[in-house]
Amino acid sequence: MSISKSHCGGKDNPLLQYVLNHSLREHPVLQKLRLRTMEDSWNIMMVACEQSQFMANVAKLIRAKKIIEIGVYTGYNTLNMALTSPDDGVIIACDISEEYTSIGKPFWKEAGVEHKIDLRLQPALKTLDDLLAAGEAGTFDFVFIDADKVNYDNYYEKSLQLLRKGGVIAIDNVLWSGRVINPSPEDADTVAIDKLNKKLHKDTRISLSMLTVGDGLTLAIKL
Ligand code: SAM
Ligand code: CA
Repeated sequence: MSISKSHCGGKDNPLLQYVLNHSLREHPVLQKLRLRTMEDSWNIMMVACEQSQFMANVAKLIRAKKIIEIGVYTGYNTLNMALTSPDDGVIIACDISEEYTSIGKPFWKEAGVEHKIDLRLQPALKTLDDLLAAGEAGTFDFVFIDADKVNYDNYYEKSLQLLRKGGVIAIDNVLWSGRVINPSPEDADTVAIDKLNKKLHKDTRISLSMLTVGDGLTLAIKL
């Protein structure tokens, strides 16, 4: 099957298509979940495959065992992280939608990694507060922030507390289709993303890279 017919295609971008053709290694169940996700009307929300693969490789590089995903949708990236992590690894999967996450669940099971995925269906800020209250500050290896944009800074601050030194926060959509260049004051999402981008640039608690993969991905490494 041609990748270009899927979400992870470079239909209008031959170079991206080349990248996908020469680097994407999708687990068969992950591919099935992607194709099922494409049947959903909100499929635009799914992470780019090459970006998900990159994040899974970063998690592997730092030997991540404790991971948080803030914004699961159908759990394509959650599954990728679960496939990458060791058998005793855990992914705290935060979302508010039973509808979206239940699309992914059967695939997590089919891939044999559902035991690693701890789905918490409530506002992600509440889940992060629960983890802090449970004394888990400084114990997580990797966090992916990809839920409601107006809360990005709150997610970042709480994630930084939960992360160990050398742990990584990955923040999605930091370019927001280019709207960050000239944010309209009425556009709360763009304003929030741009504000966080500016804050991170000066944040001495982290080292930083802003990548142009997907819709823009920032990696913040806790110092
Ligand atoms: N990371 C996903 C992936 O890899 O395909 C995509 C996530 S999608 C862009 C954003 C998700 O955030 C939606 O599933 C939505 O239900 C969830 N969401 C929105 N507000 C939230 C909140 N306050 N707490 C937790 N999840 C939230
Ligand atoms: Ca996203």
